[in-house]
Amino acid sequence: MKAPAYDAVIIGGGHNGLVCAWYLARGGQRVCVLERRHVLGGAAVTEEFHPGFCNSTASYTVSLLQPKVIKDMRLAERGLRIIERPVSNFLPQEDGGYLLLGGGLAATQREFAKFSAADAAALPAYYAALEAVADVLRSLALRAPPNLGEGLGTLVAAVRQGRRLAGLSLPQQRDMLDLFTKSARGFLDGWFESEAVKAAFGFDAVVGNYASPDTPGSAYVLLHHVFGEVNGQKGAWGHALGGMGAITQYMREACAEAGVALRTEAPVARVLVEGGPNGQGRAVGVALADGEEVFARHVVANVGPRLLYDHLIAPADLPAEFRRRVKGYKVGSGTFRMNVALSALPRFACLPEPGPHLQSGIIIAPTLDYMDRAFSDAKQTGMAKAPIVEMLIPSLVDASLAPPGRHVASLFCQQFAPELPDGRCWDDAREEAADLIIATVERWAPGFRASVIARQIHSPLDLERKFGLMGGDIMHGHMSLDQLWAARPILGHGAYRGPLAGLYMCGAGTHPGGGVTGAPGHNAAQAILADAKPWRRWWG
Ligand SMILES: Cc1cc2nc3c(=O)[nH]c(=O)nc-3n(C[C@H](O)[C@H](O)[C@H](O)COP(=O)(O)OP(=O)(O)OC[C@H]3O[C@@H](n4cnc5c(N)ncnc54)[C@H](O)[C@@H]3O)c2cc1C
Repeated sequence: MKAPAYDAVIIGGGHNGLVCAWYLARGGQRVCVLERRHVLGGAAVTEEFHPGFCNSTASYTVSLLQPKVIKDMRLAERGLRIIERPVSNFLPQEDGGYLLLGGGLAATQREFAKFSAADAAALPAYYAALEAVADVLRSLALRAPPNLGEGLGTLVAAVRQGRRLAGLSLPQQRDMLDLFTKSARGFLDGWFESEAVKAAFGFDAVVGNYASPDTPGSAYVLLHHVFGEVNGQKGAWGHALGGMGAITQYMREACAEAGVALRTEAPVARVLVEGGPNGQGRAVGVALADGEEVFARHVVANVGPRLLYDHLIAPADLPAEFRRRVKGYKVGSGTFRMNVALSALPRFACLPEPGPHLQSGIIIAPTLDYMDRAFSDAKQTGMAKAPIVEMLIPSLVDASLAPPGRHVASLFCQQFAPELPDGRCWDDAREEAADLIIATVERWAPGFRASVIARQIHSPLDLERKFGLMGGDIMHGHMSLDQLWAARPILGHGAYRGPLAGLYMCGAGTHPGGGVTGAPGHNAAQAILADAKPWRRWWG
């Protein structure tokens, strides 16, 4: 083996790769990040998609980004500004009415009372229940899960993390069990009676989740979307000025300052392994697509598990049992993502004039039944006949994104099969799906279609090709109980260490999973630094 040029080489310059690189560099390691695209940031980037019109290309709204990461990397001091939504969500209803969620407890209760006095009354207790469980999740987000098979270290970590759960009251433990095991509908039925109210909360359960709100375990995905905060306000979502790319460009700046070598247009073709087959070898570096080899003491994968283990490591280098498990790792979030340049703001039939509702997450999915139908259709034909659409119009709060008087909107759409049935390819169906999505918005906001100046389309296949998201999975793998915490991605490798010596994982395919959180990157760096000083593994 050649002398390693770096302590760590990171495959992928997504936000988690950058966070990991920064903590490693701050820990005294020499680090190199290799990114396949021309731009760093992975799924958190801002790009011009039509002359004069920019938007967050893929991920588009902030909440889950860990306050510790913001503070440590001094992102706010570098210029990061996150604007809270005045109201969280706006849900037009089939009967011509609408529901506004957020803007304070009293305002939301007034809105709920339009549908059910009992639901309005139940809201404070619901928020408190969700908050108690979300707090546990928050406290675990920046901790490596206990890793089975690691002896004393595992025991210490398990006891520490178990203490958090033991601190919950019995009703809170029941809520936690419900959230981890029930369907979103099963969970919400226990709290509310109005279909509009259940839809407002149930939407989070199908975001990036190719599933019905009736699928057992979907309640957990709902919970995953509320454990964040914006500017200290728990559960809130906001807009990063300059789009999601602003976050990663400030991270890039922090990394450069810390001495990280950052390379773009540097696609890794394979991980170099020495010392024997079947898991006995050690990852010693990577080979780029052009044949260049980069050697390092640690190889850290920011790419998801399916990309890493199916495509970047020779099968013979991996333990056979591990390879079989990875084949069963589920990917495919059923997501279709568009950006549109608009000549005018949409006018929703139920609330046509501009107002705070246009600065919220506009959800076209009025009931859980609508969401269930969308999933059933997608399973049969590849796409929902009436898709679930969330629209955000960031140009209303960020003038840098569109020319004066014009706007950009993000359309984040669910229930588009990762693979189309009958051998059809997404390349032949993407325009049809895009037309369907525009028609869906048009139904609720007449005139919308005519206002579209240009559109950028990302089918599940486009997301895979552009960002390396296998199956177009926005989370690097399903957020189901079998793929969470110590089992993310595979039980026994849930603490950021891969099945080869010297190999680590730092992306959304590790705990605590998808979203622009920075948590996997942070935790992976701690694991790598701990391995450099073994005593830290027990007490750190
Ligand atoms: C359409 C969409 C909408 C989303 N919306 C939101 C949202 O609003 N809010 C939110 O919090 N989260 C959202 N998410 C989820 C979130 O963006 C991701 O979970 C998160 O960005 C994952 O970050 P990561 O750093 O782990 O991986 P990634 O961002 O996937 O980064 C991995 C990097 O590896 C690079 N790479 C791939 N192959 C190679 C190779 N061979 N060699 C070198 N580099 C390689 C990729 O180009 C990429 O830059 C969304 C995601 C998508 C796709």
